[in-house]
Amino acid sequence: MNSKFTIPLYTLLVLLFILSDQQLLIAQGHHHHSSIVKPPAHGHNHSVEQKIYFPDLPNTKTISCDFHMHTVFSDGSVWPDIRVSEAVREGIDCISTTEHLEYQPHSKDIPHPDRNRAYELARASARNTNLIVIAGSEITRQMPPGHSNAIFINDANPILTEDPMDAFEEAARQGAFIFTNHPQWTAQRKDGIASYDPMHLELIEKNMLHGIEIVNEHSYSDEALQLALDYNLTLVGTSDVHGLTDWMYDIPHGGHRPVTLVFAKERDPKTIREALFNRQTVVWFNNLFIGRQKWLTPILKASLPIRVIGYQTDTQILELELVNATHSRFTLRNTTDYTFHEDASVFIVEPQSTKTLLVKTLQRVDTVKLKFEFLNGILAPNKHPVIDYTLAVEK
Ligand SMILES: [Zn+2]
Ligand SMILES: [Zn+2]
Repeated sequence: MNSKFTIPLYTLLVLLFILSDQQLLIAQGHHHHSSIVKPPAHGHNHSVEQKIYFPDLPNTKTISCDFHMHTVFSDGSVWPDIRVSEAVREGIDCISTTEHLEYQPHSKDIPHPDRNRAYELARASARNTNLIVIAGSEITRQMPPGHSNAIFINDANPILTEDPMDAFEEAARQGAFIFTNHPQWTAQRKDGIASYDPMHLELIEKNMLHGIEIVNEHSYSDEALQLALDYNLTLVGTSDVHGLTDWMYDIPHGGHRPVTLVFAKERDPKTIREALFNRQTVVWFNNLFIGRQKWLTPILKASLPIRVIGYQTDTQILELELVNATHSRFTLRNTTDYTFHEDASVFIVEPQSTKTLLVKTLQRVDTVKLKFEFLNGILAPNKHPVIDYTLAVEK
């Protein structure tokens, strides 16, 4: 065959193949996103489906953080750069590498007398990303005090001490934010009930213990939340991941790791640290938001804005839309006297969806006041926030 003819034909075929393949991808993408609400325009990049999204609050950034994880530098199964890649893929803003100082099961294969190496490698691999990496370590002791994380440290090595009190003292001297890890862990609390011993109270008293995990890996603890409220500690939720987050949380099928939402002035380590000391956090775990009123109510309300569509023709039925751009499912209970045309008093708003709500207002009104108990919001054990919406209606 004539080569002058063969090459263009071959090129044409390849081009056709590429084009059809691209169209297929576009079609799939379109189909997949058809029912998904886009977050507000000032928000995040949603190009990767699994990236989590939370709105910022007025004058405050909502920073999603995971302050507890492991690599091969203690008992984890991955190199630190994988922790960075996972966080970037999931849309996490800030992580801390927190190797066990005292437990180094891979040290025969990976000798590392310098306990800062995991942090240094993670930080280097995050250099061209927006991910903030914070230096941390897990102080790993018998109960009491059990396990604790010290983050925002300068040097992990001097925190490796004989006496646990010396470790806390050194971490505090470095300006660390220190929190109790998994106080409900059944290896150290057989009944799964989080509790504090006199040693913990001494640490709190000496300002060497500032927060507590109420969520660790797959576990939530009402008792840990109560301890946080009783002793005025910061609420923290972490993955404590040792393997891969994709497998641990089934992320390809819509799962997510727990995160601590930190409400900080800016996206930088200094203000994140300040916000932690000021207890400006809400923990997100599965579909639960756990936090103090001051931060829980605003983040819930911002996460689920309500849009007024208007009255349906010739009726007193007001159509509203609840717009959920987050990856959380909301469970709401109506606490007003209104009833709905399609829903009962308890209803669900699915992740990344818009739900229509038809309110029977009896007569046409200028303003409608709604009040929902957010059953997936937790202020204290068994206590859910009730949130008001005052909505103007155009006639
Ligand atoms: Zn631990
Ligand atoms: Zn751990």
